[in-house]
Amino acid sequence: MAANRILADYGVLDGYGHVSARHDRDPNRYLVSRSLAPELVTADDIMEYDLDSNPVDAQDRALYVERFIHGEIYKVRPDVQAVVHNHSPAVIPFGVTTVPLRPLYHMAAFLWEGVPVFEIRDLAGMTDMLVRSPALGHALAQTLSNKAVALMRGHGAVVVGASVPEVVGRSIYLQMNAHLQAQAMALGGPVTYLDPEEGRRVAVGGYQRAWELWRRKAIAK
Ligand SMILES: [Zn+2]
Repeated sequence: MAANRILADYGVLDGYGHVSARHDRDPNRYLVSRSLAPELVTADDIMEYDLDSNPVDAQDRALYVERFIHGEIYKVRPDVQAVVHNHSPAVIPFGVTTVPLRPLYHMAAFLWEGVPVFEIRDLAGMTDMLVRSPALGHALAQTLSNKAVALMRGHGAVVVGASVPEVVGRSIYLQMNAHLQAQAMALGGPVTYLDPEEGRRVAVGGYQRAWELWRRKAIAK
């Protein structure tokens, strides 16, 4: 899966995090790697799950403990065809402070509807921070609601899209926007963000052009 390598190249995924896609012929299933560092994922590592995140044919392979993030989002968001869960460092500050992450440039316009923050303590009190159960996955999906991104306090983010290229592009530009917003705020004075109307008008076409470039570079390695 090229998406894993691309996001590792951009530092969005490190040894952890995952990319999934809804099955193209069965909307009640999704595909994600066995438990493995994203950069090492090959086609043979991809596993099929139902939306309760039970593997269709586990073959003794280790499963991602946080796979419920994916299944529970696919259940409540029929529009979503791909999901990324990452621990992108640049977004973490926006999940642990009162500063909302907001789009300040064109490539991150998809953030215009707002970026909710998932607080795991609201449902489960003290945990090891991981989304280890369907109930936690469901609560995260409720926080995400109809948005493109939700931050997970002290943990990372979940990004959704209508395709794998779109979710990869959104993950990359989410991280870039977080860097740029921190820089803009450090310069001082008011920051001019995209107006919601500008956000609504921006159509980046699912990042298809960039996807071809990212994919070729990732596969050539
Ligand atoms: Zn995680």
